[in-house]
Amino acid sequence: MKYTELHLHLDGSMRAQTLNDLAKDAGITLPKDIRFFSGMGLQEALLKFDSTVACLQRIDHLRRVAAEICEDAINYSVTNLEIRFAPQLHPIAPAEEVVDAVLDGIDGRAGLILCGLYGDSPTTLLSHVNIAKTRIGVVGIDLAGAPHLSHKWGIEDYADAYNKARQLGIGRTVHAGEGNRSPLEIRKAIELLHAQRIGHGTSLLEDFSVVELVIDRNVVIEACPTSNMQTGAIPTVSHHPLPKWLELGIQVCINSDNWLLSNIDPAEEYQRALSIPGMSTNLLDTCLETGINAVFTR
Ligand SMILES: [Zn+2]
Repeated sequence: MKYTELHLHLDGSMRAQTLNDLAKDAGITLPKDIRFFSGMGLQEALLKFDSTVACLQRIDHLRRVAAEICEDAINYSVTNLEIRFAPQLHPIAPAEEVVDAVLDGIDGRAGLILCGLYGDSPTTLLSHVNIAKTRIGVVGIDLAGAPHLSHKWGIEDYADAYNKARQLGIGRTVHAGEGNRSPLEIRKAIELLHAQRIGHGTSLLEDFSVVELVIDRNVVIEACPTSNMQTGAIPTVSHHPLPKWLELGIQVCINSDNWLLSNIDPAEEYQRALSIPGMSTNLLDTCLETGINAVFTR
């Protein structure tokens, strides 16, 4: 079996041993259990990244982790890999140098997506687009994390950056409609940010007009069933809308989100997706095909 991984976070997918090594190197004490657990909620899940990001505040650490994820992907039979991370969380050097360290580690074996985070100033996203412009290895931009009432900026404020990315042929994905967040987020991501792919999108079926928009615009949903169960977006994996999406003709690819934090690898993730009532090996193959076709190319 082959797999695609188009939604994989660098800071959530390093080897457990590597995280221990990096923590030791950096003099950081890790929490007892770094991994996600079922139903923990998105906010608590996002807090887990504080520890992994703290261990990635050195250029050589970023390079090592990127390289190891690519090696692991080959061993897992991943044919198409895209790794994403937020350079602004690693203010150890100019963002260009931080991105170049990750690209060095990747060494042509994966595409790199630069993440803005909900709440970031739009200039952060614009700066990611400018970095991507001159680096062919950067294939896309993303908006990750989660919106919060305290944020000054909303999804529409990132439209300029996303429009610029579109003009430059840079891929566009957005974490939207995750858990109990409104499908309106998905609509905004598609209409205002011209997203070609949507991360999670678990609330999509709540609004059929958004389903139609997703289908009309050929938008691909990056499904992450294990992660969705752990963050509480769905009560159990069997509640995942994946088979319903496929039945409606929505294009979906399957992704692990975070190999380390979710304690998962691609084979397990696909197996779990297959266990959802209504899924079949044929439908799994359809998702694989979609993943191959949905890769961002420059
Ligand atoms: Zn994600």
